[in-house]
Amino acid sequence: MERQVDRESGRRDSKSRISRLSVPSAEVERLAELIRRSRSTVALTGAGISVPSGIPDFRTPETGLWANVDPMEVAHIDVFERDPARFWSYYRPRFQSLGDKQPNAGHEVLVELERRGLLEGVITQNIDRLHRKAGSANVVEVHGSIETSSCRGCAASYEIDEVERLFDADGVAICAACAGAVKPDVVLFGEMLPESAMARAQQLAEQAELMLCVGSSLAVYPVASLPQLTLAAGGLLAIVTKGPTPYDGDATLKLAGEVEAELAAVLAAVA
Ligand code: ZN
Repeated sequence: MERQVDRESGRRDSKSRISRLSVPSAEVERLAELIRRSRSTVALTGAGISVPSGIPDFRTPETGLWANVDPMEVAHIDVFERDPARFWSYYRPRFQSLGDKQPNAGHEVLVELERRGLLEGVITQNIDRLHRKAGSANVVEVHGSIETSSCRGCAASYEIDEVERLFDADGVAICAACAGAVKPDVVLFGEMLPESAMARAQQLAEQAELMLCVGSSLAVYPVASLPQLTLAAGGLLAIVTKGPTPYDGDATLKLAGEVEAELAAVLAAVA
């Protein structure tokens, strides 16, 4: 529907796309008021904000070849190290399809809030780099990003567009400098989260008077511990997520509709 409208009208700027989606409600007005009053608001986002961009949550069952394979068993650091061909056979198509995806109105609302001085930054579990593509300036990617890949041998770094030409006949991305195995700079299962990113995320969470949790089940640790830091420091939680979260009882309010529409309505109400 969205794409059809866009095609017919030729071009639409993000503001008109955002305003067409907005549906005002009392809860939306309340969240807008919380945002206006807060001196420090941080967003914590998960897979749900990228679903309207055509990126399924990894928990969505796979089809075809990988239908019965648990992503946690393939997108795992042990598989990468033991059998990089198997890892890449699973990851390469995802990597390629993610690279083409575009931000949606939900990402754009967070850009606009930051531009207006109403949002300190975005902490995200997503590796799709859509917050940066949309134009958010302060983004903490706690699970890394597909933006770059690195050689495990010599640490040479490759941009996403350069990785495709590194694949050898076995389907393994091989470093052009030292022939070591190249791995996406995303946190795989079995890997630690990058310390510096987590430290920045924790600092933002502790300083936040309001944490806006968007499209995350808040179930994956250690990211799931961030709302607790905000609460412990006396801050408030607002949740914009369709499914249940462990923090629903602690949140000052929750919006459970479509993420794009809810955020668009909040932005309209903030103005
Ligand atoms: Zn290398």
